[in-house]
Amino acid sequence: MSATLIPAPLPADATRLDAPTVRGGGPLGTRAGHGLDGLQVSGVERAERLAAMRAGELGSLHSWELVTAVDGPGTRLTAFLSGCPLRCLYCHNPDTLQMRDGEPVTADELLARVRRYLGVFRATGGGLTLSGGEVLMQPAFAAKVLRGAKEMGVHTALDTSGFLGANATDAMLDDTDLVLLDVKSGDPATYTRVTGRELEPTLAFGRRLAERGLSGHGPEVWIRFVLVPGLTDDEDNVQRVAEYAASLNEIRPGTVTRVEVLPFHQMGRDKWQAVGRAYALADTEPPTPALVERVRGQFRAQGLTTY
Ligand code: SF4
Repeated sequence: MSATLIPAPLPADATRLDAPTVRGGGPLGTRAGHGLDGLQVSGVERAERLAAMRAGELGSLHSWELVTAVDGPGTRLTAFLSGCPLRCLYCHNPDTLQMRDGEPVTADELLARVRRYLGVFRATGGGLTLSGGEVLMQPAFAAKVLRGAKEMGVHTALDTSGFLGANATDAMLDDTDLVLLDVKSGDPATYTRVTGRELEPTLAFGRRLAERGLSGHGPEVWIRFVLVPGLTDDEDNVQRVAEYAASLNEIRPGTVTRVEVLPFHQMGRDKWQAVGRAYALADTEPPTPALVERVRGQFRAQGLTTY
């Protein structure tokens, strides 16, 4: 993901609290965090480490940051997990794609960090967001952290491409208040060109989220779409995403409460060079304001609240 993506520069009302340098993009490969300052890195042996990862006690974390007005409501602690099965051409976090490149951190350590900010979360209506990379590469760890956060009464968000949605258990979804679902294209061939993977698992995961709400707890969903000129901006490609988002509200009214159209930017370019990989979008310009408005208009025409 995560992709979070948050739009390139943070919104005008966005603030960072004690988080250090911006290191990249986010869900949709937009930003990624501030290292692991303050989180103790565990030094367990390899075999124990694998067992602990399977049990969800240990995760591979790229970084974390504290932000306001992105990744969900209020001020949030966003944790960027390492590892992603997608290879998005516009990924702003190419350094989060390999799980082995992350640092081992226990669920308890991360939850202790969450606990430190309970007052901030309460005061701002914020909470915890798990992002990446792709959170669902580490479903047991994510489930444990989400459960622990809910036990503290913290609002929880999951930022995901949905490609590994089958890894999310119903119990995990019960502990998730908001899913930031990155739908990277509506046309299957374009989706594969953008990500190297298939679109259908994402669509199926979104439908599952909508259907879950029919029988009790169903997470709220924000749809995120990264707008890249010449890659994802085709009118039909956008229209398919917009109609898909609207279709989730036909399954369960109120499922999709927001759409975020995220204009492509070049903030991640240097990171591709740093990890020694060819960057296909080196010459791609950000979308013009007129193009952004055309695309947002396509979503709004489906009755969707769109930013
Ligand atoms: S490759 Fe993974 S981390 Fe990068 S934008 Fe795509 S889903 Fe997000």
